[in-house]
Amino acid sequence: MSISFAEHVRLSCPRCQTEFADEAYIIVDGGERPDLVARILDDTLHDLRCPACGQVGRVPAPLLFHDRRRQRVLFGVPPGMAEPAWRELGQNLLWVLIGALPEEVRLPYLGNVQAEAGLPGVAQIIRQEQLTGVGEGESEELNEEDNEELPPIVIAIQALLAADGPAELLDVLNSQPILDQPQSVTILQELAGEARKTGQAEVARGFERAAELLTQVKQMRTQAQNTAAATQPAPEAVEQLAFALLRSTTGEELAQLVDQHPELLDEPMLAALASYAAEARRQNKQRIADGLDERLAALGELQAQYHQQQPVLEAVQAYLEADSGDEIEAILLEREELTTDAADQALARLGASALADGDADFAAFIGERRAFLRQVRAALEE
Ligand SMILES: [Zn+2]
Repeated sequence: MSISFAEHVRLSCPRCQTEFADEAYIIVDGGERPDLVARILDDTLHDLRCPACGQVGRVPAPLLFHDRRRQRVLFGVPPGMAEPAWRELGQNLLWVLIGALPEEVRLPYLGNVQAEAGLPGVAQIIRQEQLTGVGEGESEELNEEDNEELPPIVIAIQALLAADGPAELLDVLNSQPILDQPQSVTILQELAGEARKTGQAEVARGFERAAELLTQVKQMRTQAQNTAAATQPAPEAVEQLAFALLRSTTGEELAQLVDQHPELLDEPMLAALASYAAEARRQNKQRIADGLDERLAALGELQAQYHQQQPVLEAVQAYLEADSGDEIEAILLEREELTTDAADQALARLGASALADGDADFAAFIGERRAFLRQVRAALEE
């Protein structure tokens, strides 16, 4: 298994114009390739020789140098490269390095990359710190505790692979900012490709699976965001309801309005109405702002009541939908909530709101069903 990694380059000789292919090492593991360390130290690692005329030229390649023994990672920035570009490049190379390392040596120091100016900068640190990467009979035993702090990308990939179901995947995406970068899926796929090239089938499958999961969860989040945008109430609807609220001066009128417009108790509508009130206040429409705030407070109370009454309202709904004597009987047996004052009041409100809507037939129907329930209650109480 190879950790060091060379990039294939196609070049055109500046002297004789011969085109040729060669390779330049952009990841060097000191312990694995002392020969490449020597080429870093004599500053020839990125020198390539034209096979036709012998001209030697240098490719402006990056270099990630890894010394596992001394737990150091150095990044030689290619001359003239802008910081955002080399930061991204360094990060990508680091992921390739991490992908090539056996799992048990993916330790926290890998996340701590020291940037240096080109090959000479890396060579200088190697000399200063005597980083050859080659062990001198030292024990390579690993400190198990260090495993608790892995590089962010490894933690993120592990979290992705361990997530169970869509909700957990979304949590991973939200809690691991490194996954939220636009290029993260591509990079995971590239890592998979690199791992496959170097014969690490299992590592490759892990990266591929992580890339798939990340694609799925990103799509899920986009859909969720679109749905949230779609449930935003339309401004005209908000304005209409704001004025309907202002016209409702009693608690009863407010309750009727809610029966007609159940969306008044939904969070998006309440939030939109609160913004509408705030905007009115900014425009010095004090009366509208105060009036709306007052209604919104009342709606908040209604909302709490409504949640409490939810079972009653569902029972009433089922009762009104029942269309034969047998069905009515079954629902009466099944839903004890129907023979309560709350159900009676709900039917009274529904009847009033049907009348207000001009639906006299439906109001009459509700009235009949309400009267029947009262008879049942009276019979039960005897
Ligand atoms: Zn040449």
